[in-house]
Amino acid sequence: EGVPAVSIAPAPARVFSSPAPLATLEARGITAWFGDHQVLDRVSLTMPAGQVTALIGPSGCGKSTFLRILNRMHELVPSASLAGEVLLDGDDIYEQTRRLTDARKDIGMVFQKPNPFPAMSIYDNVVAGLKLTGVRASRDEKDHLVERSLTSAGLWKEVKDRLRAPGGGLSGGQQQRLCIARSLAIKPKVLLMDEPCSALDPTSTRVIEETMGELQKEVTIVIVTHNMQQAQRVSQQCAFFLASQGQPGHIVEHGDTRAMFEAPVDPRTYDYVNGRF
Ligand code: ADP
Ligand code: MG
Repeated sequence: EGVPAVSIAPAPARVFSSPAPLATLEARGITAWFGDHQVLDRVSLTMPAGQVTALIGPSGCGKSTFLRILNRMHELVPSASLAGEVLLDGDDIYEQTRRLTDARKDIGMVFQKPNPFPAMSIYDNVVAGLKLTGVRASRDEKDHLVERSLTSAGLWKEVKDRLRAPGGGLSGGQQQRLCIARSLAIKPKVLLMDEPCSALDPTSTRVIEETMGELQKEVTIVIVTHNMQQAQRVSQQCAFFLASQGQPGHIVEHGDTRAMFEAPVDPRTYDYVNGRF
């Protein structure tokens, strides 16, 4: 009596308990076409492990195309072709022997418009990616994963008492965080975010920005944003894309975010970050 029971059972296997090690993503000489329309020209960029890299530039300069190339979504467009390499910790994600699902598993994506499965429960939305990527998990593992992913996405406290409610019942900002949690559940090494806050109100935007500060400790982040304040708040590295005078999209300037905003080298970067076009 009064003596605590000592458990001799082994701790349950927590296959998902530790985050994947941080990884660096490197694009080398990416040139891309839709049919014979060239939209990117020799884009090379290193997106360092554990950092947030912001891609900025006017509409139509190829930011989304570049992002989709980084996780092999570009090749889903029948007319699309590309040259160059994408290396994840030195491994070419386009190597013949690498399956498409492996690239998707390692490199998650969040889009401008939150796209949870609206009729599916919050819980099932988070684990929805597991089946697609061929990961098997027990009920306990899933429970753990759901809590972990929702916590990382900054949504756990708000939804922990209604995990069986449909994802579509959440606010826009919550839906976007649910989509972030869904991406995180497959334990990506990189998270690509294409204007993730453009469809959200300022409060939701702020919540997501705050979440990113924590998230970058477990996943390398690449974000496309038109919001220059946001680029400065969330990123450490920045790349300015431009397509001009019939030239396909290319990087004009890249480097440390603060340096790029305070002392841009190229006059076109100066004009863009100061809202002149
Ligand atoms: P951004 O994200 O910087 O606005 P995009 O990557 O969306 O730029 O577009 C770059 C160029 O590629 C644009 O000229 C656009 O019209 C073209 N483009 C994008 N997607 C397709 C597609 N599926 N088929 C044909 N052209 C496309
Ligand atoms: Mg875009």
